[in-house]
Amino acid sequence: MKVLITGIAGFIGSHLADKFLSEGFHVIGMDNFLTGSPDNISHLFGNKNFKFIQYNVVNYIYVPDNLDIVLHFACPASPVDYIRYPIQTLKVDSLGTLNTLGLAKTKKARYVFASTSEVYGDPQVHPQREDYWGYVNPVGIRSVYDEAKRFSESMAMAYYREHGVDVRILRIFNTYGERMRLNDGRVVPNFVFQALKGENITVYGDGTQTRSFCYISDLVEGIFLASIKEDISGEIINLGNPEEITIQELAERIVAMTESKSKIVFKERLQDDPYRRCPDISKAIKLLDWKPKISLDKGLWNTIHYFKQKIL
Ligand code: UDP
Repeated sequence: MKVLITGIAGFIGSHLADKFLSEGFHVIGMDNFLTGSPDNISHLFGNKNFKFIQYNVVNYIYVPDNLDIVLHFACPASPVDYIRYPIQTLKVDSLGTLNTLGLAKTKKARYVFASTSEVYGDPQVHPQREDYWGYVNPVGIRSVYDEAKRFSESMAMAYYREHGVDVRILRIFNTYGERMRLNDGRVVPNFVFQALKGENITVYGDGTQTRSFCYISDLVEGIFLASIKEDISGEIINLGNPEEITIQELAERIVAMTESKSKIVFKERLQDDPYRRCPDISKAIKLLDWKPKISLDKGLWNTIHYFKQKIL
């Protein structure tokens, strides 16, 4: 069995490559290193079941191989990154989605799309179920990501309805763990970096906003199950950990776990920053028999250990 993974050098993409290879798949990876890093996949070079193509998937994609599954995971995912690269973000989840769907159709391959909890915007319904349509500002600074993901979902469903492509849309909630960049800008690497360096911990807003953090190994297991499961074509599935925490509590927990002397300081709230976010994962439990196993404390220990090695 052969899979193509776009965004292979990213945080999630590189862990997915490890997972599929360990399960005996052949993996073709694509990345243009806009936000991904060669370091994340350097250990795979030399593996005879792995092939890497440096490529920007907004251009027409040709691969000679037969493919069983196409996983479209290329896209800047940190708000800092997608606000820095607004047009590349819009292109990779419009033109890139179109090209990868076309490829899946040609190869008669299954299509797995990395969507996001951001399609729910600043949600007015809590926790978020897949049948909630969301509350998104279509012209705000986050819209480049949110609307591109929503457009991609729509495109994937059109290929499912019109061409019968076997698509699965995965709405991925906040995920953290090894191989996130230190300067990624997302809250876990920021707080861990600041705590380890003894710098102020920057909480944006009053810290009462919530997120629900899923450890990378749990997420990858969910994506893998959703990719290999038969008869879930056209399904939209939330993947995330429903353990909800305020950002202030997260800051306090990281300070305590790192035994840091850092002070928590409050900065201006970010524009359109969602106030609450927590997945309802009953559909994933039912369809995939999946739920996260790693607690926030355990995952944070692993992540802190990883960043310590990078920094110290
Ligand atoms: N955040 C923060 N300080 C930081 C980085 C992020 O308080 O240094 C907050 C941010 O405002 C948001 C939450 O942490 O409320 C999660 O932000 P992140 O960038 O990790 O991802 P998001 O869930 O917003 O996509």
